Amino acid sequence: MVKAIVGANWGDEGKGKITDMMAKEADVVVRFQGGANAGHTIVNHYGKFALHTLPSGVFYTHTTNVIGNGVALNIPVLFKELQTMIEQGVPKPNLLISDRAQIVMPYHMDFDVYEEERLAGKSFGSTKSGIAPFYSDKYGKIGFQVSELYDENALSEKIERVILQKNILLEHLYKREKLDKERLFETMMEYKRMVDPYVCDTSLYLWNALKEGKEILLEGQLGSLKDTDHGIYPMVTSSSTLAAYGAVGAGIPPYEMKEIITVCKAYSSAVGAGAFVSEIFGQEAEELRKRGGDGGEYGATTGRPRRMGWFDMVASKYGCRIQGATHVAFTVLDVLGYLEEIPVCIGYDINGKVTTEFPTTTILKKAKPVLKTLPGWRCDIRGIRKYEDLPENCRKYIEFIEEGIGFPITMISNGPGREDIIYK
Ligand code: GDP
Repeated sequence: MVKAIVGANWGDEGKGKITDMMAKEADVVVRFQGGANAGHTIVNHYGKFALHTLPSGVFYTHTTNVIGNGVALNIPVLFKELQTMIEQGVPKPNLLISDRAQIVMPYHMDFDVYEEERLAGKSFGSTKSGIAPFYSDKYGKIGFQVSELYDENALSEKIERVILQKNILLEHLYKREKLDKERLFETMMEYKRMVDPYVCDTSLYLWNALKEGKEILLEGQLGSLKDTDHGIYPMVTSSSTLAAYGAVGAGIPPYEMKEIITVCKAYSSAVGAGAFVSEIFGQEAEELRKRGGDGGEYGATTGRPRRMGWFDMVASKYGCRIQGATHVAFTVLDVLGYLEEIPVCIGYDINGKVTTEFPTTTILKKAKPVLKTLPGWRCDIRGIRKYEDLPENCRKYIEFIEEGIGFPITMISNGPGREDIIYK
């Protein structure tokens, strides 16, 4: 059976924590999209880790961790992460890398930086991890699959062909140094030495695992609103963040996906540019940012302060629907314990008309939040393990949101640790 763990919002919902927790019962954890551009923060008995590329099952010796074909594989970042983990005392994880995964080339990062510079004030707020140039090349059919590292003659020829085009852009558009074929080929050979022990046909591995009745978790990166098609285009990421893409990005039958656990945050946070209707500013935002997540709402990859906002019912209802949520994991609820009253965005006012359906970006820009204020519970709910033991106003907050989004909240996360979970 396959369970997907995906985000309902703009990312940073706490998917890493939920995956780390659920991986205890799983045999395999798979990353199926995205790359080193976002990070999961995981807190467990080994310490605190920011994973960008490794699947969140790497802390269990019984779990096999798969980097699927849909991932933007940044080989040096992956190896640095592996090394850091091992240095901190985590046993060497079981890792498999798809022979069909494509490689983030060193120039993808450079092009990301140059393009953001060129766009200046109109930039996307990229993390400069090379993700947009990577996926452009993948779909433009000038990307490099891991399997291509194993045919050196063909690889060398392809590098020559590809960099011819890259060098024209470097010289004339960006006014930068050109790429050198020999150096790039050497880098690729180094990459091959690094990945070689882990490379296999991961789709076949997963097929066999399913036949043996194993439990597989698919771990999504970012959230619904950053999906290329269904998100706030163009302020989105360049791969699909939806559970549906899990079948493609892992190479498994779609009908095997039985549960879609959609992680939804008790308030809103976002990184990068784009419309954010329930956004708050100033002191109010700073307070929530400081208290948010585990040690503040600052990007796991960039350290940038995240943009903050109240819970957005319109965006979250849509985010759960587009994921196809079967279960909702409602996270970081403990953070809201300091508030006397908690505003929730229950609708969008667009040119004087209120809607609860999430619009396209063109219309979204005009939306103003319609807020409803709920009473706070004014206490620390960390350590509570039973739903009935939560303060009444806290349960009311959860139930109000559950009804508004229209999907069942079955898990409530009230702290960053594995054990901070309440089943409802
Ligand atoms: P992901 O990319 O969806 O995994 O999210 P991030 O790791 O970027 O952000 C989640 C942050 O919130 C991390 O620092 C987690 O340790 C933390 N976190 C997760 N769940 C909870 C929770 O229920 N309460 C608190 N206080 N922090 C949480």
